[in-house]
Amino acid sequence: MLQKNKAVFLDRDGVLNREMGDYVRRLEDFHILDNFEALKILQNKGYLLLVATNQGGLAKGWYTEDELAKMHLSLKETYHAHGVEITDFFYCPHHPNFTGDCDCRKPKPGLLLQGIEKYNLDPAKSYFIGDRERDVEAGTAAGVKGILINSDQPISEILDLID
Ligand SMILES: [Zn+2]
Repeated sequence: MLQKNKAVFLDRDGVLNREMGDYVRRLEDFHILDNFEALKILQNKGYLLLVATNQGGLAKGWYTEDELAKMHLSLKETYHAHGVEITDFFYCPHHPNFTGDCDCRKPKPGLLLQGIEKYNLDPAKSYFIGDRERDVEAGTAAGVKGILINSDQPISEILDLID
């Protein structure tokens, strides 16, 4: 039987880059938090690093999917330059006031389920680090252990919660 993979899902704003109180809309708004060493420890333990982020700003027309892809590529390249490989970004482009309900906007588990499917993950061995209760709820609904941190709290402070 093929061994399943394991992953640490990461919320974006407040976890990878500084929380700005609203969606980060432009490249200039990204202030990347120095979690490089902590994320290297996780990747050395065999965890894939996957981002799961609500991007209701797309539904609101604040930025396009193309602009978002450029922002995420830039984020990926910055981490890469520090020895951290972010494998993929999963985002919800919806917002209930603009596009109606969906299955992927956290606290719904859709983004995590996409990651579990795409990367053949064992949810029971995977985690979701987020700075909102809805992140933990999404994790729980997907069978992934959610870890709540404060916005911009160093990931190094919660590393002992991860096997
Ligand atoms: Zn959605």
